[in-house]
Amino acid sequence: PESKLPALGTTIFTQMSALAQKHNAINLSQGFPDFDGPQYLRDRLAYHVSQGSNQYAPMTGTAPLREAIAAKTEQIYGYAPDASTDITITAGATESLYIAITALVSKGDEVIAFDPSYDCYAPAVELAGGVMKRIQLQPPEFKVNWAEFADQITDRTKLVIINTPHNPSATVWSDSDVEQLWQTIADKHIFVLSDEVYEHICFAPQGHASVLRHPELRQRAIAVSSFGKTYHMTGWRVGYCIAPAIISAELRKVHQYLTFSITTPVQLALADMLREAPEHWQELPAFYQAKRDRLAQGLANSRLKVLPSQGTYFLLVDYSDVSDLDDVAFCHWLTEHVGVAAIPMSVFCAAPFPHKLIRLCFAKREATLDAAAERLCQL
Ligand code: PMP
Ligand code: GLN
Repeated sequence: PESKLPALGTTIFTQMSALAQKHNAINLSQGFPDFDGPQYLRDRLAYHVSQGSNQYAPMTGTAPLREAIAAKTEQIYGYAPDASTDITITAGATESLYIAITALVSKGDEVIAFDPSYDCYAPAVELAGGVMKRIQLQPPEFKVNWAEFADQITDRTKLVIINTPHNPSATVWSDSDVEQLWQTIADKHIFVLSDEVYEHICFAPQGHASVLRHPELRQRAIAVSSFGKTYHMTGWRVGYCIAPAIISAELRKVHQYLTFSITTPVQLALADMLREAPEHWQELPAFYQAKRDRLAQGLANSRLKVLPSQGTYFLLVDYSDVSDLDDVAFCHWLTEHVGVAAIPMSVFCAAPFPHKLIRLCFAKREATLDAAAERLCQL
């Protein structure tokens, strides 16, 4: 058949993880923990399976999970979404992002995103017939120039996709960035899709700048999160989105005929975890900050320059003192010859990105981080 997405191949995450396996390299490429999620959560899943909670969940998600998310959202962001109308449980954050884009973007609509940007946004926009307008941000700060953003808005602009804490740059927005975004779009008919999957992996003193804190912006926004990140369970594939009822009603039309509903016992286990073990997400910043610092300290005597990581479980390093190779070639070389797999930054950008930066994932056991740092210090 004629391809609807002719430019797309296999994702960089699949490619680099396969290369890591082939060369028996330490895999700091694709973002996933090499340790397991909480024992309590795994026990609750076994319990709900054994109790026979194994038939279809309601289309929007089980009530206990939606109610637990509503309570937690109010506690953290001072805003209580309606558990029945505003919260939808999806197959990972990936499905939330897809249904939001599919429901909101029509043929010819323009969607603004900031590069480097996570890889699943643009294909969904293209399939919906939309046009991506990608604004390139520059290292090391990856700060948005709001005047440049305003210049990109046209009568066709339908949606802006934002992501904080940001994969892959590990930078975070402040509340004033959210306010600037609001000021720029307030008098326009533009929606905001806010990818907040790393909401609990934020090291910035000011905390995570959620759109849900902003009373006006949240009326136009879809906030997306992922239990894969928060509970170290990327393979469970459960995420959710929060949006006002009239927006959620549209997203749910897509969700209803895409997946219909998500694994019942997993949802019930997650609801128990949210209710009974709030300390887990409260302790997450310190848990990951220790891993970040361990890897950064391990690289202190290397020829790699470590950039600050304010959030996510990623760290950028500059290898310009080590090699002249471009970032894709360098990541291949590093996997094959040094035994450490990483992700090149340029693949997240539509425009040329000639910087010598690669992304390392530190969601790993101390032994893994130490072994990787030891190899990288030999560069
Ligand atoms: N957005 C970003 C920025 C991510 O890093 C990820 C996971 N790598 C996702 C979305 C997708 O999350 P999930 O695994 O829950 O689908
Ligand atoms: N989000 C993960 C990362 O950034 C990858 C997820 C995937 O492989 N689709 O590494």
